[in-house]
Amino acid sequence: MLKIENLQVKAGDKQILKGLNLEVKAGEVHAIMGPNGSGKSTLVQVLAGREGYEVTGGTATYNGKDLLAMAPEERAREGVFLAFQYPVEIPGVNNVYLLKAGLNAIRKHRGEAEVDAFEFLSLVREKMKLMQMDESFLNRGVNEGFSGGEKKRNEILQMAVLEPALALLDETDSGLDIDALRVVANGVNSLRRQDRAILMVTHYQRLLDYIEPDRVHVLSGGQILKSGDKSLALELEKRGYDWIRQGAAAA
Ligand code: ADP
Ligand code: MG
Ligand code: MG
Repeated sequence: MLKIENLQVKAGDKQILKGLNLEVKAGEVHAIMGPNGSGKSTLVQVLAGREGYEVTGGTATYNGKDLLAMAPEERAREGVFLAFQYPVEIPGVNNVYLLKAGLNAIRKHRGEAEVDAFEFLSLVREKMKLMQMDESFLNRGVNEGFSGGEKKRNEILQMAVLEPALALLDETDSGLDIDALRVVANGVNSLRRQDRAILMVTHYQRLLDYIEPDRVHVLSGGQILKSGDKSLALELEKRGYDWIRQGAAAA
């Protein structure tokens, strides 16, 4: 579904990604871990098409298409979804409106009719129940005055409604208490499917107790230095990242 080869990305005059390779197949959940400032957010933002980054080399192919050549909104319509590390507040635009507009844009792109108002409301209600969110959140401005945990739930709600093919989650677990973490993890787990891939950035092994990844990658210094199964996350928890950097430098 996603194949990244030798990706190099700059922001300002800083080279952040320095030849990153990664392949994610449909049905898989991959976790990206790594020290602060290693380029994890940069990676997912570039894949989603956010402004402010310059791709200086390499390729990213999504379902056989050149992902980096696609406009951000085209990527969204093609099923790429990014849940932000710091979800943005959009005062004045209500949550239900944004969800409906997003869903209709995707349906239109697929040649499907607009979602029926009644059908939409029952879909959103079902997903809100899953995320243990009160329905009053529907009529509030997008993330406006939401607590950190409520914003993260709202990101997963968006994802549950939009049903992306490729979900990119940037530190969806950070700032969550243990109960909210379980809710968010349940939400993500309910979205695991054979035709969907999930790439999640996390600092903590803890999330991976709830969402079991197929692969774990260490991003450090702008490259994937090590990949493994979920036991790698446990090893990182014990040993930190230095041994991986040293191993890579020695090699
Ligand atoms: P991570 O998510 O792994 O913590 P980021 O991808 O956010 O890391 O950032 C990687 C590095 O690039 C950091 O050192 C950060 O300060 C730097 N960086 C990010 N955006 C910019 C920018 N627009 N201009 C200059 N440096 C940037
Ligand atoms: Mg960070
Ligand atoms: Mg980050």
